[in-house]
Amino acid sequence: MACISNWLHSSHALLPTLYRRPTLSAILSRLNHSYAVDRVFPSANQSKFPVKVAPLQAVAKRGFSPNEDEVACPADLQFETPLEIVEYPDPRLRAQNKRINTFDDNLKKLVDEMFDVMYKTDGIGLSAPQVGVNVQLMVFNPAGERGEGEEIILVNPRVSKYSKKLTLFDEGCLSFPKIYGYVQRPESIKIDARDASGTRFSLNLSGLPARIFQHEFDHLQGILFFERMTEEVLDGIRAQLQALEKKYEDKTGLPSPEKIENRKGKKIVAGFGK
Ligand SMILES: [Zn+2]
Repeated sequence: MACISNWLHSSHALLPTLYRRPTLSAILSRLNHSYAVDRVFPSANQSKFPVKVAPLQAVAKRGFSPNEDEVACPADLQFETPLEIVEYPDPRLRAQNKRINTFDDNLKKLVDEMFDVMYKTDGIGLSAPQVGVNVQLMVFNPAGERGEGEEIILVNPRVSKYSKKLTLFDEGCLSFPKIYGYVQRPESIKIDARDASGTRFSLNLSGLPARIFQHEFDHLQGILFFERMTEEVLDGIRAQLQALEKKYEDKTGLPSPEKIENRKGKKIVAGFGK
């Protein structure tokens, strides 16, 4: 996931910025289980809370075409070290992420490298497309520190259940440096996935770990966290997103593949894919 920022508001709202922040241990002490996402940091927008959150709109799910189950070949799993975090609006954040069916040493090496860059960037979760590898893989550790907490590796994850209860959390994302905004998501979920050896397992998550998972899971569907924000919240970060678009254009010499200004008036992405 990207960033869980404001997990604990005064009302104990989840703040997802998938970044660590100093009070994370206090946050985690409130959780029975601690598995997490990208980063958790305080949000610059915190003072704007509470925001008026519109009901989620029924919007067509994306990424569930017949190609969804396309399997990754060895070339899809190639990577260079050290891994670098891909920032918005890089098109790799929107590319299809293929399923993995080869559980070899290369995959384990990729997992190790992803944890490495996640810890180095103060993340608590990371998805493979965020390091430019378009496959169905995420790693996270809510503690955000090597040797602490529990490292979770999910290959080809699917969600089998979502709670009806929704929570609001101030999220951040490693692919959107220093950008935070409130996002509403189910409070708990049930997941089916494989581990790095290919063994299938199921997992129930709630609270911060569920938040982190859902943020990262969105990455695997090519969905970015600002698409789940209300217009009011999005307005607060619009200029920062445009700055990232300009940064991309200056760096690559290419036009930005997407522009936030073109989203004006679009509905919130709703529905939580399986
Ligand atoms: Zn993210």
